[in-house]
Amino acid sequence: MPTIFTHAVVPLAAGIALGSRRVPPHLVAAGMISAILPDADVVAFKLGIAYADDLGHRGASHSLFFAGVVAMLGALLHRPLRTSPWIAAVWLFACVASHPLLDAFTNGGLGVALWWPWSDVRLFAPWRPIAVSPIGNGFFSARGVAVMASEFRWIWWPCALIAVAGFAARRALSSRP
Ligand SMILES: [Zn+2]
Repeated sequence: MPTIFTHAVVPLAAGIALGSRRVPPHLVAAGMISAILPDADVVAFKLGIAYADDLGHRGASHSLFFAGVVAMLGALLHRPLRTSPWIAAVWLFACVASHPLLDAFTNGGLGVALWWPWSDVRLFAPWRPIAVSPIGNGFFSARGVAVMASEFRWIWWPCALIAVAGFAARRALSSRP
């Protein structure tokens, strides 16, 4: 995985780019939590479930099916999220799906079970520039620093550009006479 903070940066940047009229702050916050959620599966290691198992790390919770389940929950909870059922569903689906898609660009571990339960194949992107984050401790080690540097370069920096560009574009459009 990229580190959990990095997964949360994607919805935050998209929320800033789209603006609070389209994506209210409650929905941005729910999206940030949802983007981290798939990595709750690391408890599998503690439970003795193998990495390669369907319920192992990067398994079922890293599927588009799981993103769909979270999207449906979001649609049901659209009122507290201060949005419409459709916007809640589409937004949360995209936020959850961003997680396995980013994981697929990392250079270590196993791939993601994107098509579970229809297929248990673990997928990687053809190009994997993001240094994989160590699981558990080791975060503050030399490798942890290298991982953060890689995530800044490939995720934080592009996300910051998208957020600023979206924000600027909205400002420019709204100030047109
Ligand atoms: Zn993950």
